[in-house]
Parts: sequence; C-alpha cells; structure tokens
Amino acid sequence: MSAAAQAKRLRGDDLEVVVLDRGRHTSYSACGIPYWVGGEVDGPDALVARSPEEHRRRGLDLRLRTEAVGLDLAAGVVHARDLDAGTDLRFGYDHLLHATGAVPVRPPVPGIDAAGVFGVQVLDDGQAVIDHLAGLPDGARGVVVGAGYIGVEMAEALVRHGLRVTVVDKAPEPMTTLDPDMGAMVHREMECLGIDVRTGTGLLGVETGADGAVRAVVTEDGTLPADVVVLGLGVRPATGLAREAGLPLGDAGGVRTDLRMAVPGHEGVWAAGDCVEVFDRVSQSWLHVPLGTHANKQGRVAGTNLGGGYATFPGVVRTAISKVCGLEIGRTGLTERDARAAGFRYVVGRIESTTTAGYMPAARSLHVKVLAEVGSGRLLGAQVVGFEGSAKRIDVFATALWNRMTVDEMTGMDLSYAPPFSPVWDAVLIAARKTADLLQPPGGG
Ligand SMILES: Cc1cc2nc3c(=O)[nH]c(=O)nc-3n(C[C@H](O)[C@H](O)[C@H](O)COP(=O)(O)OP(=O)(O)OC[C@H]3O[C@@H](n4cnc5c(N)ncnc54)[C@H](O)[C@@H]3O)c2cc1C
Repeated sequence: MSAAAQAKRLRGDDLEVVVLDRGRHTSYSACGIPYWVGGEVDGPDALVARSPEEHRRRGLDLRLRTEAVGLDLAAGVVHARDLDAGTDLRFGYDHLLHATGAVPVRPPVPGIDAAGVFGVQVLDDGQAVIDHLAGLPDGARGVVVGAGYIGVEMAEALVRHGLRVTVVDKAPEPMTTLDPDMGAMVHREMECLGIDVRTGTGLLGVETGADGAVRAVVTEDGTLPADVVVLGLGVRPATGLAREAGLPLGDAGGVRTDLRMAVPGHEGVWAAGDCVEVFDRVSQSWLHVPLGTHANKQGRVAGTNLGGGYATFPGVVRTAISKVCGLEIGRTGLTERDARAAGFRYVVGRIESTTTAGYMPAARSLHVKVLAEVGSGRLLGAQVVGFEGSAKRIDVFATALWNRMTVDEMTGMDLSYAPPFSPVWDAVLIAARKTADLLQPPGGG
C-alpha cells in the first residue's frame, strides 16, 4: 500500500493503480497482533492505519479477497481469483509490484496442520487465535514453538490471556538475533512472567484428539499438553508466484532487486517488503530480514520509481527492537556468530549500567554488548537488554554503524544527559569506551 499510495500521489490520474490482496484488510500493523491478542490494545480496526475506503477515496482500485494466482510476464498479465465469488480474473499491466510478504515457517512434523496450531502473520491470523482462545476453558495451556521475537511476544500475549504457557526452542537461549549471553537475560525475564522455557529442545510433532484439534506438542524433552499452539519459527519470503514466473531469487530465498527495487532483467517488474532480500551494509551480503521498517521504506521507494521519480533503498544494518514483560531488547549489526561467519576479527565490550542516573528512583539495570573490528576499530554491532528506556539506545549504535564510525569516535559523541534519562556517561558512551580500550589498552600495546 505504501508503493501504491506513493505512485498514485506522484502520477495522479495518469496512472491507474489496481491493488490485489487476498485478505480483508489494508495498511495494517501485523506488529500489533501480539498486543491485540494479549488484550493490551483493541483490534482489529485500531491496528489499521488506513482503511480500504480511505485508499479508494484516494483513487486506488483496491480488490480485497482477490488472490493473484499466476504472473504472465511475457503478456503483462496477472491471473487472479475472486475468493468470495469463486470467479477468475485477469489484469493487464505496464508495471507490476510483487509485494506478497512472508509466510510463517511450518516444519514438516506430524499434526502441524491440526486445528489450534497457528502461524501469525496477517490480521486474520490474529483474529483466528483470539476466536480459538475464546473457546478454551480456564487453566488452558499454550505452547509456543520458537523463541524469536514473535514467539516471545506471543508467549507473553497468551500469559496475559490467562493461559499456562511453555516456549520450546532448539537454540540454547531465546532470541537468536542476540548472542546467547544476552538471550539468557530474556530467558530469565520470561521465567519471571511464569513462562516455562525449554531451550535446546526440538519439536517432534503435534498430537490431536478425535476432533482433529491439538491436544499436545511432542518434543525431544517429552510431551506437553496444549490447547493452542503458536508457531514462532520465523518466516520465509512468499515467492511461489515469483518462482513460477521465473523472477530471480537469491540464496536467502527472497526476490532479488536493484537499489530502486526493480527486478533485474524484467522491465517494469518491481518487488518490495518481506518477499525480497536486502543488502546488509555491515557483512556486505544479501539476507532475508523481514521487518516492517524496511517494508515501508522499500514500498515508498518502489512507488516513487514506478511513479516516474527516482529513489533508492540503501540497504540495512539489521536494527530491531522488541520487549518481553518489562525487559527491552535491541540489536543492530553483527552478533558474534554473524561476525565469525563474515570472517571478521573482533573484540567484545560488555558493560552494565543504569537507565537513569543511579540515584533516581526509576533507575533500572541496562546491559550493553559491543563488537568492534580489530585493526580498524570500526563498530560491527551492538546488543542492548534492559528495563524501561533501554531499547531505543540501540538507534545510536545503528546511526554510528550506518556511518561506519569507530568505537573510539563514538566515545566523543555529544549525547544528551539529565538524571531522569541517563547517568552523566550514558551506557552507549561507556560501552564504546570499554570496547575502544580493548582495542588499544591504555598505555599502548
Ligand atoms: C506478529 C508480528 C509482529 C511484528 N512485529 C514487528 C516489529 O515490531 N517491527 C518490525 O519492523 N516488523 C515487525 N513485523 C514484521 C512486519 O509486520 C512485516 O515486515 C511487514 O508487514 C511486511 O510488509 P509486507 O507488505 O512486505 O508484507 P505483509 O504485511 O505480510 O503484506 C503482504 C500482503 O500480501 C497479501 N498476499 C500475499 N500473497 C498474495 C497473493 N498471491 N494474492 C493477493 N494477496 C496476497 C497478504 O494477504 C498480505 O496482506 C511483525 C510481524 C508479525 C507477524
């Protein structure tokens, strides 16, 4: 919708824009689903930034419940199906934007498609979880498979809904976008919330009752009774249509585009959002990083170019934040695993500080971990885990990373200070100093 709205804004009546979506909603915040399921915000309407009617009033020909089923790139035609009427449709085009998003990973284990097992991706998925929860008795049990940020957020949502919740993950600690030492703090906070966290535990299958609905989750660590299962195993780019049509896909499975979000070798074809790969500016590699912050920017870039203007998407440094209970989590750039895989030699600075001046009543702990390259001293990545006020500190690291700053340069940055917001030396500065000292110990060496 970002692309469609931008192209229409630029070209007005010169451009007829048809938008197909197989769902019922437009411009919705999937990111809000866990807070809706947990009862913290209303939904689904409150999660919609711009309704179908608003888009139509701005001149977009929007077709909901209409699924694209085939792309004929040679003829410039999209084949589609009206899901309510059950009829076939075809749409000719001069420009095509492929923006099909991503789909939750469903591992091929017995029972995975049982009633009561949910992937969470679109608002209709959130509604389906809420409808299912409404039919469960008091004391019902939920199992979340996968402790990435969506799994962790959904686990908290189920707790808020009154369920007894277990989270199962193969990895040694939750949140594998962090290093395990930082993920361990997330683990402890989840346990404080009453969540039973089983790490190092693989999923083997889902057991169902006579009615076909989920009854239990079978893991390497035994069988867990379950009335609802939420999959938080990540997503993969939704590229079925693209693959069939012969659009180029990268090693991470997403559609490859150039800087303008154009698909190389296919004049008039564009792609954006969770279905594409992005260029990681730090590791200099193409990755699948499905985040709304990228999708919105890419949509605007594609819409600008499609509308006759010029814009580029400059890549990512993989900045992301989330939270569980009161604990805020931020990360940008490379983790130790990423840095090793990319071949960097690096040092690691770790510090513990406070979110405000230590003497303020609101002061809470804040942990920062920083990676910097040996030799150049360049910042490679940072992770922040702490209480209220912690997570957005990652944006300072993201800005430094974007501008290829060294940790030594970071130590001189003019960051704000007042006691309710930070100690006089903010955690960002202390962590940068600690890391810079490791690169060049005081007194030389
Ligand atoms: C629970 C959850 C929490 C999240 N939290 C965050 C967060 O905190 N921060 C963040 O940056 N990102 C977050 N994200 C990710 C963010 O929501 C996505 O990156 C973003 O929605 C991607 O936008 P998109 O337009 O590419 O795909 P989508 O928003 O998934 O839209 C794709 C659309 O294409 C439609 N579609 C697919 N195939 C077809 C077809 N063949 N025909 C017609 N229509 C089709 C789908 O119905 C869907 O509406 C979260 C995602 C989830 C699920």
